[in-house]
Parts: sequence; structure tokens; C-alpha cells
Amino acid sequence: MRPEEDRVDIDRILSLPLETGSQEKAAGQSLPSVGRGDLMTYDAAQNNPGRFADLVRRKLNRSLVASLEACVHCGLCADSCHYALARPDDPRMVPAYKADQVRRMYKRIVGWTGRLVPGLVHAKRPASDEDLNRLKNVVFGTCSACRRCTMNCPMGVENAAIVRFARGILADLGIVPEGVFNVSRDQWESGNQMGVSEQDYLETIDWVKEELQAETGDPSIDLPVDVEGCDFMYTINPREVKFDPRSLANAAKIFKLAGESWTLPRWGWDQTNFGLFSGDDRLGGFVARNAYEAAERLKAKRIVISECGHGYRSTRWEGYNWAGYDQKLPTESVVVTIQRYIREGRITVDPSRNPDPVTFHDSCNIARSGDLIAQPRWVLRRVCSDFREMHPNGRENYCCTGGSGLLSMAEYRPLRLEVARIKAEQLKATGAKVLCTMCHNCIDGLNDVVKHYRLDMKVVQVMDLVAGALVAPE
Ligand code: SF4
Ligand code: SF4
Repeated sequence: MRPEEDRVDIDRILSLPLETGSQEKAAGQSLPSVGRGDLMTYDAAQNNPGRFADLVRRKLNRSLVASLEACVHCGLCADSCHYALARPDDPRMVPAYKADQVRRMYKRIVGWTGRLVPGLVHAKRPASDEDLNRLKNVVFGTCSACRRCTMNCPMGVENAAIVRFARGILADLGIVPEGVFNVSRDQWESGNQMGVSEQDYLETIDWVKEELQAETGDPSIDLPVDVEGCDFMYTINPREVKFDPRSLANAAKIFKLAGESWTLPRWGWDQTNFGLFSGDDRLGGFVARNAYEAAERLKAKRIVISECGHGYRSTRWEGYNWAGYDQKLPTESVVVTIQRYIREGRITVDPSRNPDPVTFHDSCNIARSGDLIAQPRWVLRRVCSDFREMHPNGRENYCCTGGSGLLSMAEYRPLRLEVARIKAEQLKATGAKVLCTMCHNCIDGLNDVVKHYRLDMKVVQVMDLVAGALVAPE
């Protein structure tokens, strides 16, 4: 394990300046998303503290108010947060402290006590863009919005929802980390988080198909695109196109053996949704609507979501509300689809083909926010011969440390890796050689942890292990 040498100066993190190079470039290029007012850019000439106050009033809802009002400052949430556990001597890492940076502004802007006697209730509105920039560093840099603290809060305070609320308002003012701006820009402009063009998407699919046909000797194996009337439309994470086409190949192989009728859409294939992370509900609605409309256009009976934590949460649970969309089609994770295949005998698996000890990391967005806990374990126990739990797990699991878009925010990486000590200790205690997760974002977050803390583990997804255990029919 790495020693204390990596301890980060939190004052420096909280005073990191607002970088606007990408925003200026986007405005100079007259990007359509900027022109339409979808992608907001920073304007120092505006009264940003005043705009912040207006947005607080406009965007508040009943559940946020409940969380903003309910905290009794008992401090119990400190024991839940990997930031606070890794830096127990630093009160700024306690979840309630982070939420309080928003709460004090809310109280001064909205609360009656905060307006009457602000000093008495620690109410303070942002007075300058520097104050807003500091808030940016708190809500983007010191919280992965994993929601673990809510599990242990006696008052049910949703600190992560407060963090997302503040992120969304700051996004409306262009006061965001460069990485957040860049990924949001790509998703607005191209419909997917990684700016993959339609041509690259279709060429990658063709290439995967050719490789698979050569590998299996089966010319009928296919990755169909835009086929109408299939049993399901398959949505993916752009990382699968850009960096990990192996997971697309695994899916195609499994679906073929199961005799499935499926299709990828030409447009609306990105299930990831940066709006969940940036707090921008408009972006969230745009991305979710693309997928829902594609499935309707293709007359698919279901939407199946590949292994992706925030894609699952966004597409299955949150996207309808952001998009204001009356989505009637059932949606499910591909791990549930695979569970059905095994249960119904549509595919045969042999656990002895994955003999190394395997442990499972629950994605926060899938387990804690999506309630999908038993299903991946059911599958893993049938495709691996030595499955062992890490502790805690399920809803209580620790974040991979890369949640809430933190992987795109390079400036906060040193702190992320420092507090990843909690995750690293948890992983090491399992003695597993294979670390499985069902989320592309967690794959990258966990690979960083494994590398930084020099753990002897390989990070894989459920489908990698299923594909490795497949028994071809005689
Ligand atoms: S556990 Fe809940 S009530 Fe207690 S300090 Fe934390 S957020 Fe506030
Ligand atoms: S949501 Fe997660 S990272 Fe954020 S304060 Fe709560 S426990 Fe910590």
C-alpha cells in the first residue's frame, strides 16, 4: 500500500481557479449547443452571485428542501464517507460540511431565519465569483456523489442530491471544471460522451463483427444496427466503441448463443448521461430522450443496458423525469438478461473456466441507487469457481472513487487517489486476483486504485467472465 506521502493540501484544492480555456474556444467556434443556450459558458461581466440566487429559488423542490432542512449535525455521516474515513482529522471531508456549503447559501437566499438573523444560523449568500468558484471545488472536488452517507443518516439527508443541485446551478453559470465542460460539450454536440462520430461508431461495429466471425468461424454472427421489431434495443457506453470493443464482442457472442433478436440503434445508443454528474437536467433529458425515442422508432420490445452504473441509473430510473418523457418500454441491465439466459438454459457456462478468486465491486449507481445486488452475484456464482465477497458490499459498498464524473476532472485526481486508500484496503483484504464490476466507469476508477496502491488484481466485467465460461453447443 502507498504511504502518507500522497497527502493532499485541501486548501489548495478548494482554491483551484476556474479554467475557461475550453469554454472560450467553444464560444469562438460558435458551437450549436452554445448558440442554442444548451451549453452554458462563464461570463465574468454578469452578476453571477445574483444569478445563483435566482437559480436556487427556481430549482428548489420539496425533497431538496427536506434534505436542506433536516440535518441535525449529528456527524454520523462522517463514518460513511471514504473522504472522511481517509482523512479523519479534516472536518471539511465530512458529508454534512460539504452540504453545509450549499445549505448556508440556501438559508440566506430562501430560509426565513437566514434572511432575518443570518449570523445566528450561519447563513451566507455567495458574494463574489470567487465564492462560487470555491463552492465548485467543494461540490465537484470533494464528493463522488456515491450516496453512502445517506444510508447512515438518521434524518435521511441526501447530501449527494444537495451536491448535484449545486453542481447543476454552477453548470448554468459556466462555473465548472474544464473536464465537466468538455464532456458536456461532446454529449450535446455528438449525442455521446466521447464525441464518437457516426462513421467511427459504424466502422467499429463492422470491425468487431469481422473479428468475431474470424475468431468463431461463424459467418452468421452479427452486430445488427437499426433493425426494427427486435426483442430488445441494446444501448452501450461510448467507452466500448472507443477503448473497449471487447465488451461489444462479448455481448454479440452471448446474444448469438442465446438465439436473441437484438439491435443497436444508429442514433440514441449512448446510455451514459453526463447530466447525472453535472447536475444539468436539460442535458440529462436530451440524452435519455435520444435512447427512448430510438427504441420506439425501432419498435423494440425492451431496452437492454450494457454494464454501466450511471447509464443504468439514468436510463432506467432518472431519465424519464429529466426528459419529461412518457417512456413505456421496460428497461433492464444486460446482467439481468444474462441471468435469464442461464436460468432458461439458453446459454451454458462452466465455472471451472474461471478458476482464479474473484471478488465483486458494486457500482454505487447500480446497487445503492438501482437496487440491483443479488443478480450479478447469482451470475458470478455460476461462471466462477471461487467467488468471494468484499466487505462491506451491496448497498454499503465503497465508491470506486471515480464516480460522479470525477474521472474527467484531472485537478481532483490526487485527492481522489489519496482517499482511495479505503477502497484499496477493502480490495486487498479479499485476497482476490480478479476484481469484477458491472460498470465501465468503475473499471477506470478501480484500475486507477489498483495501479496506485500496487494491488495484484485484474479488473474485469461480468460479461468478460460469462464469455470466458461459455460452453459452445456440440
Ligand atoms: S448524519 Fe445526517 S443529520 Fe447527521 S450530520 Fe450527517 S447529514 Fe446531518
Ligand atoms: S455522497 Fe459519498 S462521497 Fe459524497 S459526501 Fe456522501 S459518502 Fe462522501
